[in-house]
Amino acid sequence: VETCAPEPKEPPVKTPSQPTVFIPVDRLPEIQEARLKLPVLAEEQVIMEAVRENPCVVLCGQTGSGKTTQMPQFLYEAGYASGGGIIGITEPRRVAAVSMSHRVAMEMNLPPQVVSYQIRYEGNVTSDTKIKFMTDGVLLKEIQKDFLLQHYSVVIIDEAHERSVYTDILIGLLSRIVPLRNKKGLPMKLIIMSATLRVEDFTENTKLFPSPPPVIKVDARQFPVSVHFNKRTPLDDYTGEIFHKTCKIHRMLPPGGILVFLTGQAEVHTGDEDRLAEMGDYEYNGSDLELDDDGEDNDEKADPSIPLYVLPLYSLLAPEQQAMVFRPPPPGTRLCVVATNVAETSLTIPGVKYVVDCGRVKKRHYDRVTGVSSFLVSWTSQASANQRAGRAGRTEPGHCYRLYSSAVFGDFSEFSEAEITRRPVEDLLLQMKDLNIDKVVNFPFPTAPSAEALMAAEQLLVSLGALKEPPRTARVQDMKRAKICCPITPLGRAMASFPVAPRYAKMLALGKQQDCLPYVIAVVAAMTVREIFEDLERPAASEEESSKLAENKARLMQMRRVWAGQGPSLQLGDLMVLMGAVGACEYAGCTPNFCEQNGLRYKAMLEIRRLRGQLTNAVNAVCSEVGVFVDSKMAPPTENQTPLLDDTVFIHPSSALFKKPPEFVVYQEVMETTKMYMRVVSAVESEWIPQLLPQYCHFGPPLETPTPWLCPSTGTIKCLSTSTFYRVAWQLPAVER
Ligand code: ADP
Ligand code: MG
Repeated sequence: VETCAPEPKEPPVKTPSQPTVFIPVDRLPEIQEARLKLPVLAEEQVIMEAVRENPCVVLCGQTGSGKTTQMPQFLYEAGYASGGGIIGITEPRRVAAVSMSHRVAMEMNLPPQVVSYQIRYEGNVTSDTKIKFMTDGVLLKEIQKDFLLQHYSVVIIDEAHERSVYTDILIGLLSRIVPLRNKKGLPMKLIIMSATLRVEDFTENTKLFPSPPPVIKVDARQFPVSVHFNKRTPLDDYTGEIFHKTCKIHRMLPPGGILVFLTGQAEVHTGDEDRLAEMGDYEYNGSDLELDDDGEDNDEKADPSIPLYVLPLYSLLAPEQQAMVFRPPPPGTRLCVVATNVAETSLTIPGVKYVVDCGRVKKRHYDRVTGVSSFLVSWTSQASANQRAGRAGRTEPGHCYRLYSSAVFGDFSEFSEAEITRRPVEDLLLQMKDLNIDKVVNFPFPTAPSAEALMAAEQLLVSLGALKEPPRTARVQDMKRAKICCPITPLGRAMASFPVAPRYAKMLALGKQQDCLPYVIAVVAAMTVREIFEDLERPAASEEESSKLAENKARLMQMRRVWAGQGPSLQLGDLMVLMGAVGACEYAGCTPNFCEQNGLRYKAMLEIRRLRGQLTNAVNAVCSEVGVFVDSKMAPPTENQTPLLDDTVFIHPSSALFKKPPEFVVYQEVMETTKMYMRVVSAVESEWIPQLLPQYCHFGPPLETPTPWLCPSTGTIKCLSTSTFYRVAWQLPAVER
């Protein structure tokens, strides 16, 4: 261990009263024995001394060194939960918050009423809670209620290396809250924990911490892991390749758990889990798989006749199912966990000897043109690939099989970027405004988003009615320098509490107000899931397939025409098509058969169904507390007519409105292919515009140059904004809860 604090510029703030009691914990002997082997245990004294001496401490230690399970126990034993305040610990993932609270309760021999967890809609916190695991989003919401977090004596920010947006914001907020608390004589500690040593963004950022916090490093015991690269890198069916590789490991290599990394829940299920579970029937005949077991002393031999015990692991999995990965597999089986990134650093699965890594990660991608974000699968970083590999060497030497070549690995970025720099900031800006942080430019971000990104977000939120208009006297330059810091509106507060992007949150608010929530939810869910129709443009593998595809395409085109229908959709557009499809599919019981016959993607429809339930619960939970959202008085006209998009855009040929374009439309997104095409286009009536979007209207004599969206001089339509949704009239079955 080394404590490597740069010389502080001023002496650290001493908290007014330090706990001096020791609270005994009655652990089972086997637990105590296992704890003593953890690297952090050896450093307990050094860590706790640093905590006593400093308001903020950074703790770095490899995954599995005991940070998450032991740090709350150290603090508890040192009396930090006995002076009225409790110990809070945040996780970027729900899985970790839930399972770590169970684990720590078990280790401490305390009931869940004392060691508890809270995730967005679920938790077991009581008035007796002393240690509280929660997601970072939950703590952020608590700060909205009590800025000083007076319940807490210590806040631990776990997995800070992941640089999730909420974690970053929490660190920024806590860097202010902790000194405030200490000044008020209500001592508080902040502990930042990271699985990597790259913590300069926290320690060398003087805006964040004027005197740098000490960094304590814990050396983890790690067995060697041999890394095996593929010679070639499968690009298409990598889940298939993963399956083959896993089968081969099971057939050829000695006992030891297998941990497979895929990118998302959908892949975890459709990729391997089912197929692997049917291993008994599986015959592999390929010879191109590279599975070298060099370095293996093959005293132990694989026994392919034993069954593979396959478990999925991802964030949204039910807690009881998640907990299964920590239990020993049934005797005579080999454990195989098919996981998303959650197994990378948050959870340590016992007994893993082999890691199979697809090398990819699902990340939110933000399109600056359209402002629409989506989840895309891309290569992960070298740091994260190495974390994954490390999972194989926890209890004995292990092997990591990478489904990509070493050349491809060489091209990975070294570290994962802070999430805040690669995603839109309007939702985060709205959250911060909801905390009454109006001057977001002055906020001590560990890594700040660009001023342009903040300004664009501010403007969008103003136009959605979530923020108050800037004073009319405000000059454009002031906006540009982001000096105008618009405060939040009541509508904005309601929007801030919906678990979707602000554009969709506005739709939900209006849908609730206009009494058509189920329809709006159906549409928002369909837009979030994106392409609900079968893909028409899939490239053909062979000539034979090509003619089959052409035939299929004709059929699918016909299906789309059917969905577009004769009536409302042709006039109103694609949102009605989406709603019709969701409604009909739901009515038919959402069966694979119905989807196949009607050109719908079954997986997408299932996802929509799940999302609808989730959104309905979320909006109802919020709306019971909130009254009317939208001020029915019309705002005064303004001269601000900022077109959001300067280019001419076109209606996509796949749209129901392509043949008979209406005068005004709204769209979900613009995609640039051969032209700038609007996708998911719906007609709006001109009277709706001044009422819903007065800031885009000019009231008075006609302008000399027509406003861009008013003039279809090029034969095309200019648009207002995205996804402003008003009233719809089709019947949908009620959403299942
Ligand atoms: P870190 O946070 O440093 O990654 P943890 O505190 O999560 O480390 O884990 C420390 C050790 O505790 C791990 O090596 C693991 O073996 C064990 N452990 C953690 N959670 C569980 C669990 N639910 N079941 C069994 N062992 C666990
Ligand atoms: Mg941890």
